Amino acid sequence: MTKENTETVLSLLDTVYGTEKDGFLHHEHWQLLFAILLSAQSTDKQVDEALPGLFEAFPTLDSMAEAPLPDIEAKIRSIGLYRSKAKHMKNCSQALLTHFDGKVPKTLKELISLPGIGRKTANLFLADAFQIPGITVDTHVKRISNRLGWADSDDAYKVELALQKVLPVDHWIRINIQLIRHGRAICKSKRPKCSECMLAPYCPSAGKQP
Ligand code: SF4
Repeated sequence: MTKENTETVLSLLDTVYGTEKDGFLHHEHWQLLFAILLSAQSTDKQVDEALPGLFEAFPTLDSMAEAPLPDIEAKIRSIGLYRSKAKHMKNCSQALLTHFDGKVPKTLKELISLPGIGRKTANLFLADAFQIPGITVDTHVKRISNRLGWADSDDAYKVELALQKVLPVDHWIRINIQLIRHGRAICKSKRPKCSECMLAPYCPSAGKQP
């Protein structure tokens, strides 16, 4: 896609899907980190419903680090992959207390050294907590970036690197939520609605997807 068309596509995404995203309920950075961790393969609504009970039962990193696993699991049972997520939160709490003086670090490298924290969670956290630009590549971002010709890979990290070259930095944070919204509404995995898509005039895959 040409630079000019990319600019037009980004402008259309801003207009149609907005530039802001709703944040999770949290008071401290570790709570935000765990909310984002919980949101993987779950809906934001499920996470929003579980957070008050979780943070009421475990109001500090120490209480999360020391809690028996089944007690943490019981608070997030409505969330997908709750067993592994409970384990990650407990181990991550211990690592934050041991290695980072109980503070969530500000760099991608340090964040992904924590148990259960991958690039996606880390990038989302840095954007939400500190407004540090990063591109979060989930399944929607990967699929649509490939269809738009911004990337040519099935590997999330390679797509992230490709997007860093194509997109202006001020779009890095918001491209995630915009493409998630576009993927859910129009550019679905199977049978995308190209005839209804405002990006079709600029999209090399328009009308070519099964
Ligand atoms: S034209 Fe079709 S393939 Fe391209 S972004 Fe729109 S829905 Fe997706």
